[in-house]
Order: sequence, then structure tokens, then C-alpha cells
Amino acid sequence: MKKIHRFIFDTDLKETIQVRDQALLHQWAKVLRFKPGEEIEICDGRSHEAVYKVMSLEKRIAELERIGKVRDNTAEPKRHVTLYMAILKREHTELVVQKATECGVSEIVPLVSDRTIKKRAKLERLRDIAKEAAEQSGRGRVPLIHEPLSMKAALAHAEMNAANYFFHTDAERDIFKGVKAGHSRVGLFIGPEGGWSEEEAEQMLTHDLHVVSLGPRILRGETAAIVSIFLSTQ
Ligand code: SAH
Repeated sequence: MKKIHRFIFDTDLKETIQVRDQALLHQWAKVLRFKPGEEIEICDGRSHEAVYKVMSLEKRIAELERIGKVRDNTAEPKRHVTLYMAILKREHTELVVQKATECGVSEIVPLVSDRTIKKRAKLERLRDIAKEAAEQSGRGRVPLIHEPLSMKAALAHAEMNAANYFFHTDAERDIFKGVKAGHSRVGLFIGPEGGWSEEEAEQMLTHDLHVVSLGPRILRGETAAIVSIFLSTQ
């Protein structure tokens, strides 16, 4: 069976949709070589989706007609997980954004911690990666990628979560096996390659975060981020 392409953009999922986004039209006509008659799935980014047929595809406009009903997306996790992740090397940050999206993360906050080497991230690129991963993995929403925050600002943001977990390479701690069933909103803190500073580790205790371990082996920041998100969205 031919795989149906999925696209997420802000739309009302009416019976007919007109698409004027130049980048999207270029992708459809030149990259994917859609012809009239092609069937695609459109998601509105708010967890509703429907299958459409391409009726016409021109340089500046495409017309789509809905075939079938508007459905609720069924792939969104029940829990809202925010990843607070120290900015890693560019390719590792990008990998985490893609995999975290596939695993069901809802928000990603790039963190500037004491030992973060890179202080900036290419947000536009990260947002494109999140959107593409959301489309490909069948999600109903695209995770929100925040501007980089300091630890202090991230801790303030994390106050809205029912629980926050601070991942620390300290094998004496409890091993993280997932989140309590009742907690619908959680935060996960992952440090940079150099780990957390002493001050940060102390600060966490005063903020009522759960300090947890992922076992006796030291994982790369990107591995720790992906594994902890997968465990948290279950
Ligand atoms: N030399 C550093 C390694 C940091 S690994 C140190 O010893 O701290 C990068 C981040 O991944 C860590 O800050 C932590 O958030 C997470 N991490 C990696 N391995 C982990 C483990 N076994 N348990 C908990 N967190 C881990």
C-alpha cells in the first residue's frame, strides 16, 4: 500500500481548502511530484485531521477536497511532557528534537546551564525538524520549541508542572522508571556533556525536584533525553 503523506498546518479542515504557501506548493509539485488525484492527510495542529484529494496544483495555489470525515488524532500522548535540555552540539540538539518529537514530547526548552558550552540554538531549524517529525510520526500537534532559557527562568517555567525530574549521573539515586499515573504535566531536566555544576545540583533540591538516575552507565545527553521522554509519555 502506498504511504499517504501527512502535513500539519493551521487550517479549518473545511470541505475544500486552498493552499497558497509557496514552500509547501513547491514541495508538493517539485519534490513529491503530486498530481491531481493524490490523496494526502492534513492535520490542523490542534489534534484534528482528515484525508484530502488534490484537485488542482498550480504554481501559486492548490485546491484540496476533503474525502471523509474530520477525525480526532489518536497518537498524542495523554501527558504533557516538557524537556528542559542543556544545549548540545548542533547535530545532537537536532537529533534530540527529532526523536523527542517522535516519542511524544510537548515542549522543549533549550537550557543554558553552568557548563553549557553552546549558548545558542538555531530555533527556526529546530522548529522545522519538530514539524517534520510530528508529520511523519502521525502526531496531532507540533511540539513547542522555546527560546533558550537560563536555569533560573527554566525553574520558574517548571513550576506549572505537577512534577519535575532532574536527571543526575549519581547511581545512588532511584532509577527513573516513568511518571506517576496522576501527573498529567511533567518536566525533565537533562544536563550538558560536562554534567551539572555543584551549585545546580544543590539548587535542584531546594526547588523540590526529584533527582533521579538512569542507571550505572553514563549516557550521552541526547540518549538520556530520548530515553527519559519515552519513559515519561507511557
Ligand atoms: N560527566 C557528566 C556526564 C553528563 S551526561 C556527569 O558525570 O554528569 C549529560 C546528562 O545526561 C547528565 O547531566 C544527566 O542529565 C543525563 N544523564 C546521563 N547519564 C545519566 C544517568 N546514568 N543517570 C541520570 N542522568 C544521566
